[in-house]
Parts: sequence; structure tokens; C-alpha cells
Amino acid sequence: MILLINPWIYDFAAYDMWMMPIGLLHLGYLLKKQGFEVKLIDLLDVNYDSNFFKVKRKETGEGNLPYQEVEKPEFLKGIPRRYKRYGIPEEIFIRELESLLARPEAIFVTSKMTYWYPGVAKTISILKKYFPGTKIILGGTYAKLLPEHAKNFSGADIVISDESIENNWILKDILKKDIKLFGEISQYQSYDIDLDLLLKVRFLPVLSTVGCPFRCTYCASRKLFPFFHSFSPEQVVNQLILWSERYGVKDLTIFDDAFSVNTGKMKKILTLLIKSGKKFRIHSPNALHLRYIDSEIAGLMKEAGFYTIRFGLESADEEFQVSSGNKVSNSDFLKAIKNLHQQGFKPEEIGIYIMAGLPFQKKEDVWRTVKFVIDSGAKPKIVEYSPVPGTEMFEKAKQCSPFNLDEPLFQNNTLLPCRWDDFTQDDLEEIKLHLHTS
Ligand code: SF4
Repeated sequence: MILLINPWIYDFAAYDMWMMPIGLLHLGYLLKKQGFEVKLIDLLDVNYDSNFFKVKRKETGEGNLPYQEVEKPEFLKGIPRRYKRYGIPEEIFIRELESLLARPEAIFVTSKMTYWYPGVAKTISILKKYFPGTKIILGGTYAKLLPEHAKNFSGADIVISDESIENNWILKDILKKDIKLFGEISQYQSYDIDLDLLLKVRFLPVLSTVGCPFRCTYCASRKLFPFFHSFSPEQVVNQLILWSERYGVKDLTIFDDAFSVNTGKMKKILTLLIKSGKKFRIHSPNALHLRYIDSEIAGLMKEAGFYTIRFGLESADEEFQVSSGNKVSNSDFLKAIKNLHQQGFKPEEIGIYIMAGLPFQKKEDVWRTVKFVIDSGAKPKIVEYSPVPGTEMFEKAKQCSPFNLDEPLFQNNTLLPCRWDDFTQDDLEEIKLHLHTS
């Protein structure tokens, strides 16, 4: 039996905005297909004991996570906020480990944010205690962005830092079998995952592309997925329809980084969803690209049932737009908003991400962008910048930040890592308060 683990989050704040351990579910699908028994323990899943957790969840699939306060790591001792472990209590994790009928042949652990590594390390330390001698393999975002750090601090036996085919050979030695888990995603017709591994399917993930053709200087997409590939729209929609019947779920959440970039395929997917006659509610917490929202796409979005809409503008500063990767311009933005209005979307339904706390960004820039978005008839959503190692902007962030950003704990956007005289924590709070009360 192979054990898959989604670890705890250690942070000052965390919210489950349609989180799903997609990479593990993909791995689980491939392992099962190659003859292995697979079990997933998702430490962020509130369904282990929903009566016990009593956290506020929305029927759309997002919501709060249960937490327990934990001691801060030494580096964060000076931060006057409570530090927490988000997810199920340790006793439930142990109960789940003890209930396993067989000792795992190997354990795969995933990871997300670099600054959540204490959660990964704590999870692995418990696994090691229960299954000494079983190899623990760490993958996911943290492992890809900071493999050396992960080797030194996670406690994993093996750190998988890319999708290369050589990983199969390493795993062959552990699993004593020829296996194919890594390789050329671009040959796939669809990105298959096994939703049966979850305790409960709360929403269905839309996975129609991998990677992104843009190269924004602040974004890790290119580093995590060095290529851009779109899957077959027919396969994507067929799968969603089968799942919705099987699990009785109507919420769809788009996981793509670049869902709207391939406009032909996006139109096809939305048309097929409409034709299915199912009343889906579609959520796009990963921002869609504004540039591609023409009148036809806006109409299809309305008809297909877009419910939670997020676009990435980041800043209305045109110089920044060009120098950071040119993914959107103010005129793209205004055209898209006009098209969305014409198709019946209301300003409060169109959420626009604005980045705050970019290196050397001044508060006036954020205020200007907020005003620009409101005046255009959309709703600003402030997102604090998180410096991502390996991105072009990371070096600039290091010059601006009062923190040592080589320590991943300081890459946490809650700390406002690039705070400086012209953009302080108080400036950020003022903007957020204004948006909250207006
Ligand atoms: S367009 Fe979006 S996903 Fe693509 S590189 Fe830029 S920020 Fe990342």
C-alpha cells in the first residue's frame, strides 16, 4: 500500500479557498492504474470529524479551517501575531495512521507554500515515528522551489524537484517495480486524478491546461511548469459531467493558471458545459486573464454559471504592467469590464486582484489602482505580495525587504515582506479597512 499525505499548514492565517491536493490525486490515479493500493490522508480535510471542527464552511466548497495555536519558530518570535497549525488535530492524524491495515511501502507527501515548511516537517516527523524505515518522498511546490532547503529541513528521504523521467528510476528502487509516474504531460489528453481518494468531494476541479505562456516576474508558474499545454476540451468536460453525476456536485473550480489564454479551447469548454444542461456554479480563485475576455467569452461565462470571478490586474501602473510581463494593460482591463457588464455581470461580481507590497511599491500606487478598479465598475481584492524564490522579482524583493528573505518563513505574505517607509503595515490596513467599510 502506498500512503499519500497532504500536510498541515503552519501560518498566522489560512483560508480554504477551494484547496484540493491535485498533485497527490494525480499520483494516486497513476499508482492505482499501475496496480498499487493507495490511501490518502489529507490533514486539511474537515470531513474527518465535521461535528468536532465546527468551522464555518460555505456550500460552494470554500471555508475556514480548524486550527490549534502552536509555538512560533525562532525566526518569527518577534512577530506579534498568533501562529497556528491549520488542519485536523494531531490525534485524528494518529488515529488514521493507526487504522491502516498494512505498513506503507512508501509515503508521498506534497507541499505548497515555501513558508509552510514547518507543517511539512512536523507531518514527516510523525510519519517517521510510526513507520521507521519506510521511505518518505516529498514533492509539490516547496520541494520544487527550494529543493536544497527541503532536503535539509523537511526530514524527507527523497525530494522530487521536477517532473523529469529520471524520478521514475529512483522510485523503481523503492517500490521494487517498474513504474511511470513522471514524464511528458504534454502527451496526455487529460490530467487524470482520482477523486475517490477524498473523504468527500465538495467541488470538482477544472484542469484544462498546465503551465502558462506568460513570464510574469513575480510568478512561479514557469518554474513549477516549464511548458504550457492544453488538454482536450471534450475530455475535460466529459470528465466533469461524469464526476458531477457520480458525486452529485455542481460547483466547479478552475485550477488552471491560464484557463482563458487559449480562447478557442475556453469557448469550447464553456459551450460544452452549457450544452450539458447542468446548472454548474463556476469559481475561478486562480485569476483569469482579462486580456481575452471579449464579448462572446463574457456571454459564455454568464451562461455557463460563473459565480466567483477573479481576474488579475495587480497594478494600474502601466510601466509596471509592461516591465512585469505584459499580461494585461489598462485598456485590456477596461474592454473586459465593459464586455462583462454588457453580459449582465454586476460590479460586485467581478473581483479584481490588486497586489500590495510589491518591492518599492508606494501606497499611492495601490490607492490609485483601487480607485481605477472601483471607477471602472469592478471590486478590488487586495492580495499581499509574496516573494517567490527563483522568480525575477525575488532579487528586487531582497533589496527592499527588512527581512532575510533567504529564510522561507519570511516569504510569507502575511508579514508584508517588502514593507518599507513608503508602504507600511498601517498603510495596508488602511486600504483594507476602506474596502471593507465602503
Ligand atoms: S499570467 Fe498569471 S500564471 Fe501566467 S506567469 Fe503571469 S501571473 Fe503567472
